[in-house]
Amino acid sequence: MAARTPAEIARDAVKQLTTRKLPPTPENYQAAYHEIAGTQPLRPFPLEPMRRIAQALPDRSPGQQRLKAQVEQAVSMHNWEGVQKALVSYAALGPPPAPANAVSPVVEAHQPLATQFPADVLDQMARIVEHVLPAVGNQDPKLAIQGEELVAYLRLPSHEPQALKKTLANFAFRLSFVAEEQSVVQTSLLGLIRLMFENIGALGVDNAWLSGQMTALMEAATPPLSTRRLEALQSRLKDVIHKQTEARERTLAAQAEMKQALASFIERLATMTEESSQYSSKIERCAQQLEKAQDLTDIAPVLQEAIQASRSMALDTRRASEELRDLRDRTTHAETEIVRLQQELDQMSQLARHDPLTGALNRKGLDETVEREMARAERQKMAVCVGLLDIDNFKKLNDSHGHEVGDAALKHLADVARASLRPQDSLARYGGEEFVIVMPDTSLDEGVEVLRRVQRELTKNLFLEGNERLLITFSAGVAERLASETGSETLKRADQAMYLAKRSGKNRVVAA
Ligand code: GH3
Ligand code: MG
Ligand code: MG
Repeated sequence: MAARTPAEIARDAVKQLTTRKLPPTPENYQAAYHEIAGTQPLRPFPLEPMRRIAQALPDRSPGQQRLKAQVEQAVSMHNWEGVQKALVSYAALGPPPAPANAVSPVVEAHQPLATQFPADVLDQMARIVEHVLPAVGNQDPKLAIQGEELVAYLRLPSHEPQALKKTLANFAFRLSFVAEEQSVVQTSLLGLIRLMFENIGALGVDNAWLSGQMTALMEAATPPLSTRRLEALQSRLKDVIHKQTEARERTLAAQAEMKQALASFIERLATMTEESSQYSSKIERCAQQLEKAQDLTDIAPVLQEAIQASRSMALDTRRASEELRDLRDRTTHAETEIVRLQQELDQMSQLARHDPLTGALNRKGLDETVEREMARAERQKMAVCVGLLDIDNFKKLNDSHGHEVGDAALKHLADVARASLRPQDSLARYGGEEFVIVMPDTSLDEGVEVLRRVQRELTKNLFLEGNERLLITFSAGVAERLASETGSETLKRADQAMYLAKRSGKNRVVAA
């Protein structure tokens, strides 16, 4: 069959539309024409989408600008070949120069994630997960496995954005449950601890010191928890346990002593009763014999027997009363010994860590705190300061107002100091009227400022003695721990600085 002319094809196309009862729209006519001619219909040029693609091309370098213009021109002319040529040249330009601080959103969306997130950011993310895991992972093995996988994934050289997002989201989801669970567990544990303290307090001996310690324990077991809070809790609890043990031992000893005394007393009573009944029956027998007596020779041996019985009775009674007196002395001695022991324990127990008068740490408590904070400072490469303060003219206050007022003034100073210190600082009674403040994570300047703050607080909170308002001042030295210095060396420097403060007029703070 000879090839048909375009005019013939056009005519047949119109005929086909009529046969198929199709409306003669340009699209239907074009389709029928190509069907008859056996050719492919040309698709219309997608001008608008192509324009948008051309406009989105970055133009940061002169090369990019030139080729972008070529793409735009080819697009406006519906020239596929031109578009292809310009795009291929554009792609051959290589990576564009790095932007100063912003990335074009188009580039951002199409580049691999590893270049969007710098390697050090991904590494920090991995480290966060690594640090979080020991705290929470032990409770949930699945979280631990997820965390380890996440760390390994974050340390890969490149990442698929969707996969990274999903892994992070899964980990965060599981972590949120574990964290919530931990917070509930912590609160319940604290509740239990407080219950235990209440119980110890209720079971313990009635003792003002103990009830003070109990209040302090309850305060220390109040959220939020911190390592320092727990350390303080531990130290106070050790004191309480020690006291309770001592008190129990003393009570048991006193009980044993009393039991023994009671047993001896009952035994003595029994012999006395027996002896006195023997005596009365002897005297009764003597009386009967006397009644029956006919002459003096009969009376003499009976009288002899009666005198003998009375003498031995008197002897027994004296011995019994001596024994009873001895028993009473022993009991009184046991009682005074118990009171003495109690006072001794309260005032200078070698195991207690707190001073009973001021509630501040005692020397033992201070030594432990200094050692712990020095080691922590060394480990965490942080500063730590100690301040040593000595009350000015304290002897004069004692002399003019009496020792008891002096004691109350010491307590006042300790209360004011404690109220103006930060939770991480510790107050200790170093000696008679000397106190030490241990200040973790504190530079020398900050340490001096802490002591000055205590000074200011003392001027605001005067010590009340009857109607008198007394100003207590102190002189202080502050030293910051030097590298590889021991606690006592730092304290010694603080002491020297305090001495300087005294010599230069008192009521001042000097940095070592
Ligand atoms: P300075 O300003 O030089 O420090 O003079 P000062 O009087 O404070 O110091 P000094 O060392 O001469 O006297 C300290 C006094 O502190 C002597 C002592 O009676 C008194 N003291 C020590 N411990 C206690 C205590 O526990 N209670 C009372 N009330 N006084 C105490
Ligand atoms: Mg002194
Ligand atoms: Mg003094």
